[in-house]
Amino acid sequence: MITSIGDVMRKCYDKGWITTRDGNVSLRRKDSKILYITPSGWRKTIIHPEHIVKCKILENKRLVTPEGCNPSGELFMHYLIQKNAQSTRAVLHVHATNIVAAMYAGFSLPEIASHFPEIYRYTRVGASVSSVPALSEELAIETSDNLGIKEDGSYDFDIVGQKNHGVCAIGKNPWDAYEHIERLDHICEIVLKGTMIR
Ligand SMILES: [Zn+2]
Repeated sequence: MITSIGDVMRKCYDKGWITTRDGNVSLRRKDSKILYITPSGWRKTIIHPEHIVKCKILENKRLVTPEGCNPSGELFMHYLIQKNAQSTRAVLHVHATNIVAAMYAGFSLPEIASHFPEIYRYTRVGASVSSVPALSEELAIETSDNLGIKEDGSYDFDIVGQKNHGVCAIGKNPWDAYEHIERLDHICEIVLKGTMIR
């Protein structure tokens, strides 16, 4: 599963959802204290298991980063989404082009999703996060809140958009999180094209 972190980032790069050094993924296995997360600033096209940073979420929920390691600048967002997870969980953040474009054009992502069964049957779309700075505490807290992350580890939505920035998705593994983004990006592309024709 650790190998799939790099595979997913390469696929996201191929899709044009990130530029070379953007995007981040974290992974936490069931009952594990280790939070695997992509390093900051590393070229995502050449990311492999040996580059992944292994942080720890202690019993008291304190986050520990190993000395000399440089985890993703969005670590706090991943931590908030992962800290109470009860089963294996992957969190993927990228800048999926059509999703960001749809938000920029003023569309509500939950509303768009409600029109297309190929997404609403499999993916729960939460309200978009407002336009707050990348890497900020506000982005982390609002993303976690809009996903509906609970103290017992459950959550209400699989994906939320982040206005003027990107998207954050939760899955059972990195590919599962990727699929939520792919579905939403696809229907956003359809809606944007449909609006252009009108
Ligand atoms: Zn970002």
